Amino acid sequence: MNTFKNTDKFTKLSELKSNTVVNISVKILSKKQREYTNKAGTKSTYFIGVLEDESSTISYKVWGTPKIDLDANFDEGRSVLVYNAMVKEWNSKLEINLNNNTIIKKGEDIVQSTKKKIKYGSIGEISGKETTVNIKAGISKYNIIETYKNPGQPSKLYIAKLEDNTGSIDLMSFKEQNTLKEGNKVGIINATVSVRSFNDSKTLRLIVNDYTDIFIIDSIHEETTTLPQINDIFDKVAMPSSLKILADVINVERIIAKLSCSICKRYVSADKRCAEHPDAGINIEKYIKCIIDDNTASARTYIPVSFVTSDEHLTDDDIISIGQMKLLFRKIRINGKVKISDYGIDIYTAGEKDVELIDESAYFTQHIKKMESLLND
Ligand SMILES: [Zn+2]
Repeated sequence: MNTFKNTDKFTKLSELKSNTVVNISVKILSKKQREYTNKAGTKSTYFIGVLEDESSTISYKVWGTPKIDLDANFDEGRSVLVYNAMVKEWNSKLEINLNNNTIIKKGEDIVQSTKKKIKYGSIGEISGKETTVNIKAGISKYNIIETYKNPGQPSKLYIAKLEDNTGSIDLMSFKEQNTLKEGNKVGIINATVSVRSFNDSKTLRLIVNDYTDIFIIDSIHEETTTLPQINDIFDKVAMPSSLKILADVINVERIIAKLSCSICKRYVSADKRCAEHPDAGINIEKYIKCIIDDNTASARTYIPVSFVTSDEHLTDDDIISIGQMKLLFRKIRINGKVKISDYGIDIYTAGEKDVELIDESAYFTQHIKKMESLLND
């Protein structure tokens, strides 16, 4: 059976589908040799790496021996035309498999022209299923942490908090990058997407690899990026540091108190003290639990009480009444840490700065108009 797709039709990397055979026109960003031992103990080698075209990047594996034209080179930095490549899903990400049926020809050099044409995603869109991403973002924080890359070998980890108008995510590098400075606006091409499990939540991070390109840009958003929608959150493998969501407040439910140790700031439950600092004071932060909805799905969110009132002597019932007047049926933009559980989606804000009232929803405006017309009658 000959499954060879002998046409010059090339599929963009951004349009690949699992379990298909495609032709692609790509640049080889990396090529690394790996060793594999089968059950019988026989060792064999194969290659892995990352391919790029003007639409996206993708990981690949070479199994077996593709046929390579004499004037073509399947090496780092080269551009090639790959015929008869298999698209497979591996660890819930797509990857390219090259095998004995694959034919590799010399490609047009797409190397230099890609930077301008490159497609940038937004932080809120990253789902954890990608291998690498291209992002434009501002750096809101920059930290250097002493760490151990290998046991006993101290090294430095450089962490930049990237922010765009859809959320924030940490970018980590084991090498110093002179473009990573607080306040800089940067374009980042080909950063590795990594999923980190911590307690019961999975967080996304970006990692600078040998092929990541970071450069200063003037402005972040050439096109308007759209905010993530609540229903899209269910499709994510893991969450960025924070997401921005625009939704209507459809219910103002009750007051939730978060208690924490005044020394180590760790959260404590209502009937217990901090195990390490039993004599320390307890900080109380009060949040208003609200239900928000953006017409795709609903979520719970927790808005700091200080956002609706600065009066510290009010009872919880009074705060809820004020919260209802100020928040109910209003459109808000919230920026928070997102957690998915069996009970749905929770979005945790960290302070007043994470909440913004946008404008009156249609519902709210209608009611004001009704009230005005009643008063004028
Ligand atoms: Zn403590």
